[in-house]
Amino acid sequence: MNQLYFIKKEKLEWRETTAPVINGSLQAIVRPFAAAKCDLDDIYLFNNLNTKLNIGSVLGIVNKDFHRLFGQNFFKGPFPFGHECVAEVVEIGDQVKTIKPGDIATVPFQISCGSCINCNNGVSGSCSNTPPISAYGFGTHLQFGGAMSDLIKVPYADAMLLKISEHIDPIHLASLSDNIPDAYRNVGPELEKNPDKSILVIGGKVKSIGLYTVLIAKAMGASRIDYMDYSNERLELAKRCGANNVYGFSSKITEQYDIVVEANSDKQGLFKAIKFVRPNGLISSSGIYLKKMKMPLIEMYSKGVTFKTGIANARPDAEKVLKLITAKKLNPELVTTKIDSWDNAIEAFLTKTTKVIVNRPRLFSSN
Ligand SMILES: [Zn+2]
Ligand SMILES: [Zn+2]
Repeated sequence: MNQLYFIKKEKLEWRETTAPVINGSLQAIVRPFAAAKCDLDDIYLFNNLNTKLNIGSVLGIVNKDFHRLFGQNFFKGPFPFGHECVAEVVEIGDQVKTIKPGDIATVPFQISCGSCINCNNGVSGSCSNTPPISAYGFGTHLQFGGAMSDLIKVPYADAMLLKISEHIDPIHLASLSDNIPDAYRNVGPELEKNPDKSILVIGGKVKSIGLYTVLIAKAMGASRIDYMDYSNERLELAKRCGANNVYGFSSKITEQYDIVVEANSDKQGLFKAIKFVRPNGLISSSGIYLKKMKMPLIEMYSKGVTFKTGIANARPDAEKVLKLITAKKLNPELVTTKIDSWDNAIEAFLTKTTKVIVNRPRLFSSN
């Protein structure tokens, strides 16, 4: 079968590989037909990230713990590319109950069993029955493959696959595998308790998650959502997504917010977040702080700031967002900036824009 590989900076390549087969009763084989580029994919697609991390950790610029926690080869090509997709179920194991061949499902990027204590607590990103950071589309766990494949194996089909109704256009749901539930993690739990919150999203390197956060906050009834970024494209998208006010990065803002989402993933974004958050407010961070940096704890102490970070828990939070989409409260297509064909994936994914999705015709039903 054909599988797209990340080779090195700005180089993707189709390779012929062996198709996965079912060898366990809880598994499924699925065929992705829409796949998206995750915000993190852009960071290594357009940078010699693995080399930079190695040199940076020797020089003391990069956090050495990255390699210890994520593995030495996390961003080192070649590895199967892609970890966000919507797929058709092709085959299921004997004990799979919730999904059948022909169904459409979102495939969470994390491998999770659904039955350990962490999965049962909604923390599917830390499943204790799989090796740490088990996921599609990175260099650490090659056995899982990537989303840009003719077929992929889902080890725990009932726990992982989330069925999508035939009444919803699935193409723009490709990022339900990761970036959209990651956006939910930023604001969803707080807005579930009380939607009357003012929110500032500081966008940037984490390109689409900040914008999906705007959509989710709006869908959940946040009282005010403002957006800041240095990219004109994303400022326009934020307006389209319903942000009340949009600001350039150097704008003077006098207001303070109940929640500030730091989606630039660096020191500049963090210091802005501390400045703009209300006393006793919450900062939620998206992305990974790869560079070494000190937390300004004394400033956070003086304001009583709570800081939240973490990897997405893709499967449980995707289900919460899918309910908003099904209720027509949230339109993820507002963040999509490029759609292309599966066959043109290399050129499409090497385009620098906010959210790229590629797709191909389905096997079981024409679309
Ligand atoms: Zn991702
Ligand atoms: Zn588990």
